[in-house]
Amino acid sequence: MKLQRVLQYAQQLLKDSVHEGDTVVDATAGNGHDTLFLAQLVGDDGQVYAFDIQKEAVDTTLLRLLDHGLEHRALVLNKGHEEVANFVHKPVAAAIFNLGYLPGSNHTIITRPTTTLQALQDLLKLLKVGGLIVLVIYHGHPGGKEERDMVMDYVRQLPQKYIHVLKYEFLNQQNDPPFVIALEKVKEYPKPEIV
Ligand code: SAM
Repeated sequence: MKLQRVLQYAQQLLKDSVHEGDTVVDATAGNGHDTLFLAQLVGDDGQVYAFDIQKEAVDTTLLRLLDHGLEHRALVLNKGHEEVANFVHKPVAAAIFNLGYLPGSNHTIITRPTTTLQALQDLLKLLKVGGLIVLVIYHGHPGGKEERDMVMDYVRQLPQKYIHVLKYEFLNQQNDPPFVIALEKVKEYPKPEIV
């Protein structure tokens, strides 16, 4: 298959944006796949900040890092991503959100529109020019469509002079297929901040 699946595409975008020594964020650590992927990209001089509100997800992510001997490259926080500005104080090269629920776990513990939006706004401020925020949007579960709509309304109004916004989506897949939104900062905001 030549067209990349959405998760592959999301990781490809991260790979293209992250270099050794970078500071990056996994906003939804879950089972730790993206945290590990980012830890492999940032090298020993870089730093991954990973957030999840579920202790189970934090433990799984830490174990995955330990299995690969990369735990020293990541700070895995049992905190909501809406607190990102309290923990990350350096310019960020890339961030990833996988919205929705933790696969194989409680399907009612989901990412929520207001906290997702708060994290997104704070990460846009922390993002360096040339940096990328990638969101994989799942919207088939209860609550998913409200979150999707709020994120889409927000990203559509971002001024293209500062942020480029891309949607990557398969149009003929069934059952609410996930899609990717990618935000690239192309120019620093003037003060006062506009988002
Ligand atoms: N990227 C993950 C992986 O590789 O397995 C999958 C993430 S899963 C789709 C979504 C995760 O977001 C869940 O683990 C859930 O606990 C977490 N979550 C929900 N609300 C959150 C919040 N406010 N801050 C951080 N994580 C949150």
